[in-house]
Amino acid sequence: MPVLAADELSAAVANLAGAGARLLVGSVVDMAGVARAKVVPLARAAAFHRAGMGASPTWNVFCIDNVVAMTPRLGVVGDQRLRADLTAARFVGDHLAWAPAEFFEQDGRPVPGCARGRLRRVQAQAEAQGLQVLVGNEIEFVVTAPDGSPLAVDRWQAYGLGSFLSFEPFVDELHDALNSVGLAVEQLHAEYADHQFELSLPPARPLPAADGVVLARLVIGRVARRHGLGVSFSPLPFTGGAGNGAHLHLSLARDGVPLLGGGDGPHRLTAEGAAAVAGIVAGLPETLAVFAGSVLSSLRLLPGRWSGAYACWGLENREAAVRFCAATQGNPHGGNVELKCVDPTSNPYLAAATMLGLALHGMATGAVLPPEVSRDPSQLTSDEAAQARVVRLADNQGDTLAALRGSTLAIELLGDDIVEALLSVRQHEHRTYAEVDPASLAARFRFAWSS
Ligand code: GLU
Ligand code: MG
Repeated sequence: MPVLAADELSAAVANLAGAGARLLVGSVVDMAGVARAKVVPLARAAAFHRAGMGASPTWNVFCIDNVVAMTPRLGVVGDQRLRADLTAARFVGDHLAWAPAEFFEQDGRPVPGCARGRLRRVQAQAEAQGLQVLVGNEIEFVVTAPDGSPLAVDRWQAYGLGSFLSFEPFVDELHDALNSVGLAVEQLHAEYADHQFELSLPPARPLPAADGVVLARLVIGRVARRHGLGVSFSPLPFTGGAGNGAHLHLSLARDGVPLLGGGDGPHRLTAEGAAAVAGIVAGLPETLAVFAGSVLSSLRLLPGRWSGAYACWGLENREAAVRFCAATQGNPHGGNVELKCVDPTSNPYLAAATMLGLALHGMATGAVLPPEVSRDPSQLTSDEAAQARVVRLADNQGDTLAALRGSTLAIELLGDDIVEALLSVRQHEHRTYAEVDPASLAARFRFAWSS
């Protein structure tokens, strides 16, 4: 994490003070995908940045129900420092400033289990290889009554103009608030599920892109409160309809030359680009727990929901876990792949680190792209699926976790500490809630991933 020199630090704090900030919130996202934070008066911002605020190692094994899923390494003894990255700080309104935080040991060494630190290292590894990496995030959420009960459905239609207009003051203020924290909105619309919205953030380097997700959720929560609304980022806010995804777009270039377009391969993929896509597709079954590992995730990841329940790829195939978006006039951002199986219970830093890590692994090993799937994968016969090497991603949390447990690749990409913590947290969910009916689960955890 960049450490600011004394004069830069004073300038950063003065900037936030000038905007009106009195409190600084520094937030991390834990292994369960929950944002947690410490807050200091602005006068303590320098200490938050340099020395950090105390946090027990258990911060990384808090569960969605606040049980602590301790492991031999992550227990009650010890102290880590949560340090606010003031290079990424933003004034968010009223008297509040926000900055992403990272875990350090008391002696200043980075904590290997820190998700943001991991993404920083994977990004650096890619950039050291001469790659330019951009990640674009889609954010889906459902608005509810403040207590989480559903709003009365009057005229909700997928992409409905009336649906959008019925929330115009909320959306207008949200757009303003996102802009004022430096988050441009690419587009937004009323989505499939009742009272569901989607907005897309523009492509950015992986670390700022993941920070943008955390910040956007904070802003969405603040604006919703002002409008008397609750906001659910659960993969299954309510049973019976489409869930919330957290789709991730990735594009790669080497020395300014795109790898996912302009080549000789299918849809003009370059050889390196094809290997990157192949690496993502091949690694999905064993890393699904990073992307969609919560007790609610399998309830969203169903065929027919555009959630990408099959590990395969295809041009503009919205049922494939990896949708390829070719470089065309209609796609000014250029060729990219969209990972659809990922949901908002994933840690956005780990999701990006894993997607990029799989792409790098595919490139390093010369992974071979499987045949493209140009139909709904759920309609393939078993012979066709076998030929195209299409795999249905695990349809329950137990199998999702078992695949991660057996994955040496996940350890290579994320390190032992992160994989151990992820498994510990999700196993607690599985042990405690696997038998609970979906409607009760949806109600219990509707706001678990909200800020
Ligand atoms: N809500 C869907 C999901 O769960 C995605 C719909 C879309 O493609 O926009 O991922
Ligand atoms: Mg959508």
